[in-house]
Amino acid sequence: MLPVKNKRILISGGGIGGITLAYFLHQQGFIPVIVESAPEFKRVGYLLALNKQIGQKVARKMGVLEILKKFEIPLTHNSLYDTEGKTVMRVDVTPELHNENSGLMLNRADLHFTLYDTIKNDVEFRFGNEIITITQDEFGTEVIFSDGSKDRFDLIVGADGVNSKTRKLVFGEGFERNLNVGYFAFIVPNRTNEPISGKHDLIAIRGESFLLAYHAIGESEVGGYVFHQEAVSSAEGNEKRRSTMIREYGKYNLKFLRILETLTDNDPVFHGSFTQIVMPEWHKGRICLIGDAAHCPTPASGTGASLAMAGAYILAKKLATESDYKKAFEEYDAYVRPYVEKAQKSALGPAKLIAGKGLIPYRFANLFLRLLPRSFLTFILTRVHSHKLEMPLPE
Ligand SMILES: Cc1cc2nc3c(=O)[nH]c(=O)nc-3n(C[C@H](O)[C@H](O)[C@H](O)COP(=O)(O)OP(=O)(O)OC[C@H]3O[C@@H](n4cnc5c(N)ncnc54)[C@H](O)[C@@H]3O)c2cc1C
Repeated sequence: MLPVKNKRILISGGGIGGITLAYFLHQQGFIPVIVESAPEFKRVGYLLALNKQIGQKVARKMGVLEILKKFEIPLTHNSLYDTEGKTVMRVDVTPELHNENSGLMLNRADLHFTLYDTIKNDVEFRFGNEIITITQDEFGTEVIFSDGSKDRFDLIVGADGVNSKTRKLVFGEGFERNLNVGYFAFIVPNRTNEPISGKHDLIAIRGESFLLAYHAIGESEVGGYVFHQEAVSSAEGNEKRRSTMIREYGKYNLKFLRILETLTDNDPVFHGSFTQIVMPEWHKGRICLIGDAAHCPTPASGTGASLAMAGAYILAKKLATESDYKKAFEEYDAYVRPYVEKAQKSALGPAKLIAGKGLIPYRFANLFLRLLPRSFLTFILTRVHSHKLEMPLPE
């Protein structure tokens, strides 16, 4: 085997998992190189909960947890309305309980840039480029990139998200499990010239086949979300996404409509489907997958970022302690897989609930929720999702 410090590892994708992996590999003496298809990182995002039991532990190991806490969006007051504007329920939790049960609420952009800052001066980034072909041999891998360049690496890690090209290139197609829920998500400057909500309020409206939500972020920004039944519509581009949301959901809440009307064509609206990635193995030869590329649990699980970060930490640790990369890949897979399975399983219920498609008819469900005591609601709400998933992290 080569000594650790000579091991060049190509990471495809500089998102949450890819950057975390580069951080820990660099710390262990490897030479990670990140190839990122985006020409640059932009401050675009959506609301994301970094859970206390996994993601925040990895962030602490990277020395950034206290920085992340400064970006917290503390949505501790949650109100749910029906489509006629009647209150269905209101649940207030303390910041401590919120963090314990749901995690640290962040703009994904703040998480991403905070992680990026930890390695941007130490790790080589190749922006606006991507892997086109990979050839493996006894001694390593040869990669041809989209800019025509060629390079050799000892190992390759695919961290290129739910639609991973590395996965498709190396493992083929057919690992998607579609949960039949689509989403729109955005965080933009507040241009409505009016307060959106109270500082800590999350306002949600549950319809028969959708849930929409919005909240203020300080004085200057606003976040908005729609989760809807059925897989993704063909709303390509920010303009189409905005007009689809206005047409389909604007009528249910005037403030939400106001927010949508102030979106510009340059405001990024994330739009996709809740698609889990389920694979029997995450490694093949010298190539391994992490994060959403390997095991996307969908936003309904609330743990995708945490699992991507923890997987990166475990993989770097295994590569540093095992002399054989094959054994390291196997041990990483065996360690992380049980938690991924739990997260993916626990996303199935919330996915149905989110889009209003429960077993209980819409009006009856609203009545039922109205009648429940608030303490019981808090109890239920903090247990219906898997944000609290635990994963021990070895030192
Ligand atoms: C609306 C929404 C809400 C969410 N809420 C939560 C939450 O509350 N809690 C939580 O933990 N998670 C949440 N998630 C999930 C979380 O964002 C992901 O699980 C996490 O970002 C996965 O990290 P990753 O590094 O695997 O992929 P990503 O962060 O998606 O990074 C992939 C990177 O690869 C790059 N890339 C793509 N293709 C290529 C290519 N061919 N070559 C090179 N680079 C490429 C991309 O540009 C990107 O930089 C949410 C997701 C969404 C969409």
